Amino acid sequence: MKKLIAANWKMNKTAGESALFIGEFKKIIKNEKNADVVICPPFTALSAVSGELKGSGIKLGAQNMHFEDFGAFTGEISPLMLKELGCQYAILGHSDRREIGEKDGLINKKVISALKKGIVPILCIGETHEQRIKDETQDVLESQLTGCLKGVENISNVVVAYEPVWAISKGNPSQKAATKEDAEEAHLFIRKLLEGMYNEEAAKKTRIIYGGSMKPENAKELLAMPNIDGGLVGNASLNPKSFAEIVNSANK
Ligand code: PEP
Repeated sequence: MKKLIAANWKMNKTAGESALFIGEFKKIIKNEKNADVVICPPFTALSAVSGELKGSGIKLGAQNMHFEDFGAFTGEISPLMLKELGCQYAILGHSDRREIGEKDGLINKKVISALKKGIVPILCIGETHEQRIKDETQDVLESQLTGCLKGVENISNVVVAYEPVWAISKGNPSQKAATKEDAEEAHLFIRKLLEGMYNEEAAKKTRIIYGGSMKPENAKELLAMPNIDGGLVGNASLNPKSFAEIVNSANK
């Protein structure tokens, strides 16, 4: 399956800085024949990045969205607005948002709404450190997955991002990623869950990507695992050179 490598810039880069990044990145990226590349800048930079990406084959994504198309939702951004700017993906249920109160029910509404608009949800799930040491990882993954996918018929239109919260860098470049074995074990478990919820064929076609301190030094070994279909990259995607190295390692 073609890998998917997505950049989650979080609350970093102005529109001007984002445009400069894309200019640099396009010069050093190799032909992305084995990987789909998605850039998810802050909302304020979507328009500038959209312009810079034209004709490049690199796709645009948002970091969040509301589930309604329009209305009295101060400070929110709708799927229609994202579509108009050329967004094809939206990160939903990221742990940064779960930490400030987003729950599976709300994330589920967003997933359904994105799919209706033809936006591919990058649905983030993953356990915290506390849950992991209490041996609750599988329960957490199962309840997040079932809660967020209620009513979703065509699972292969969703990208599932396994993001163990304890491995996310939060901007610290020395944070360790999950080992390739631990990540693979979780990905295989998610694949099996999807098989049970849907069927073997659909589960096989669904991309399950890994996020949590992926960087040039570990990307190749993580991406070589049989059930790791790509990466969601935070800190290491802020620099065009390191993000290009990650993408290029998926292309080898
Ligand atoms: C993320 O928060 O989605 C993420 C993967 O961040 P990082 O790569 O910095 O750990």
